[in-house]
Amino acid sequence: MTGRQRVALIAHDQKKDDLVAFAKAHEPFLSDAAIVATGTTGGRVAEACPSLDVKRLKSGPLGGDQQIGALIAEGAVDLIIFFVDPLTPMPHDLDVKALMRLAIVYDIPMALNAATAEALLLHAEAGLTAR
Ligand code: PGA
Repeated sequence: MTGRQRVALIAHDQKKDDLVAFAKAHEPFLSDAAIVATGTTGGRVAEACPSLDVKRLKSGPLGGDQQIGALIAEGAVDLIIFFVDPLTPMPHDLDVKALMRLAIVYDIPMALNAATAEALLLHAEAGLTAR
């Protein structure tokens, strides 16, 4: 992989604090990346980490997950970090499923929990690519 990594960040409400902490812990790497995020997640991350270049899309329930899916289809995302809340029913469950499906179709590395996100970023920080 050459050039800036294009990283998508998403967190469900109950996981936003965890994603903000994760972004702060990886701020040196993420500040070199071009970040896209769903609306509320992007706002929280940008507020906590002013050095990051965060492009905010719509909020997830209003189409933000689908916008990230479209970016995947266009080849514009290299890595997805999505802190999913598995315990709360969501009105946009189908959008989340569709996003995961496109990440699989296009074979984009996608972390759905903190442990996998750590592993993926350790990999990326070492200059390695997952595909
Ligand atoms: P949000 O969307 O960042 O706007 O909360 C995330 C989601 O619920 O998919």
